[in-house]
Amino acid sequence: MSSQPAGALTGGCQCGAVRYRISGARLVVYACHCRECQKQSASAFGLSLPVLRENFEVSGRLESWERSSDLGSRTRCHFCPECGSRLFHVASLTPDRLTVKGGSLDDTSWLEPQAHLWVTRKQRWVVLDPAIPAHDTQPDDLAAWRGALPGEIE
Ligand SMILES: [Zn+2]
Ligand SMILES: [Zn+2]
Repeated sequence: MSSQPAGALTGGCQCGAVRYRISGARLVVYACHCRECQKQSASAFGLSLPVLRENFEVSGRLESWERSSDLGSRTRCHFCPECGSRLFHVASLTPDRLTVKGGSLDDTSWLEPQAHLWVTRKQRWVVLDPAIPAHDTQPDDLAAWRGALPGEIE
């Protein structure tokens, strides 16, 4: 498995108007193959990096949009109004953390999912490494599962 580069991580939207910096923690990455993530990424799956809000700095103007998610919670989805790139989400159940969209990092070379969610919805051609945990749907308590992932609590 590739390893995360040392030091802060940077990223931003496609046009460059919004930039962010993540400091202070080793991160985990998971892929979600649900239809919502296929829609938000306009691709085969979403890549999420849970990050504590205190470790995240962002500059530039953002817009947001909110959707309801399973379990009756709400997810606020932040994006660049110039180019439309989705950058991060905040779930109402866990306002102290956000999930950064992995493809927006400047360096994506080290990203490798440590878990896959909603594999029952994945596109057929996506072949998963059997050594990586895969969930048919998602853990019952997604907020707790995210919180227990190694790395973000440092
Ligand atoms: Zn932009
Ligand atoms: Zn999803």
